[in-house]
Amino acid sequence: MVPFLDLVRQYRPLRQEIKSAVERVLRSQRFVLGDEGRVLEKKIARKTGVKFAVGLASGSDALYVALWALGVGPGDEVITTPFTFFASSGAISRTGARPVFADIDERTFNLDPSQIASKITSRTKAIVPVHLFGLACDMDAIMVVAKKHGLFVVEDAAQAFGAESRGRQVGALGDIGCFSFYPTKNLGGAGDGGMLVTSSPQWAKKAVLMRDHGSQTKYRHEFIGMNSRLDELQAAVLLVKLKYLERWNAQRRAIARRYTEVFKDLPLQTPFVPKGHDPTFHLYSVLTKKRDALSRFLAKKGIASSVYYPSPLHLQPCYRGLGYHPGDFPVSERTAKEILALPMFPELSRPETGRVLAAVREFFRS
Ligand SMILES: *Cc1c(COP(=O)(O)O)cnc(C)c1O
Repeated sequence: MVPFLDLVRQYRPLRQEIKSAVERVLRSQRFVLGDEGRVLEKKIARKTGVKFAVGLASGSDALYVALWALGVGPGDEVITTPFTFFASSGAISRTGARPVFADIDERTFNLDPSQIASKITSRTKAIVPVHLFGLACDMDAIMVVAKKHGLFVVEDAAQAFGAESRGRQVGALGDIGCFSFYPTKNLGGAGDGGMLVTSSPQWAKKAVLMRDHGSQTKYRHEFIGMNSRLDELQAAVLLVKLKYLERWNAQRRAIARRYTEVFKDLPLQTPFVPKGHDPTFHLYSVLTKKRDALSRFLAKKGIASSVYYPSPLHLQPCYRGLGYHPGDFPVSERTAKEILALPMFPELSRPETGRVLAAVREFFRS
């Protein structure tokens, strides 16, 4: 069996280190808003090149808190991609604003900057570009549109921690960047977790109050906030894993290079990496009209594969009220039908990668 992802392999060599980090938190009996979280915030702010980082309970909450801090709410519109995980638009809806979708680029699967302008109205307040599968969006183009129309930009970097665009880390390219530490993400905790990063003291402060019921001083509430903290156990585990992230991302890139090199003669669209981009390959997805047959063929050979995402967000039942129809976003809809993610994680062995390569080749030769 070649697994799609195997977190046990990542844990095994780190077991002692993680256990002692967890033990340190248990001994302190300080579980919420303590030193572990503060140190992690500092390290992540430094790594991404921003002034502030705020730990939150999940990536979904990071997106919500970011939009809220920017003043996005009922009556506003926020432009995003329909080809992403639900949380990207779910966070927009939770603020009371309306998600407005724009189609993706067929090679990068990311928001197509040229599709944004026609979606802007007097109610548009922000853009949420999603760095899908770990590849940064064309942020230069997106920031030009945003500046021209006075819009905020909140990066959904949940799949892209450590990805770079022209030497700059994602999360630091817009107004606020959001990360997820969900266990399957490139930097994953032992449960839910998230963080937002920004260089604005004002938005960072709002997020700090928001995650703690709008309170700075105990029992004094400036506004109605929420409970959304990154807990100390998560932060301790993440501090251990952060040390290995660069190595893991390099291993992912090496596997991706090998896949792409061998697939280049096949009738298969492989991940496109625009010049100046250094993606993290959270997922390695190919495109083929024979997607379902390929997936079944791989399964028979004991190779796992998976579809991200089978249904674009504008066609989700919960968004019926937005008035979208099949055919509104042809690139997203076609991609959803043809995309297939292959096994991708740092510990995937060379023989395993070889088996995937051989099986995919065999499928297209037969
Ligand atoms: C995982 C993910 C999120 C949400 O993160 P959680 O920590 O699971 O809440 C948001 N956007 C994208 C693109 C994601 O992949």
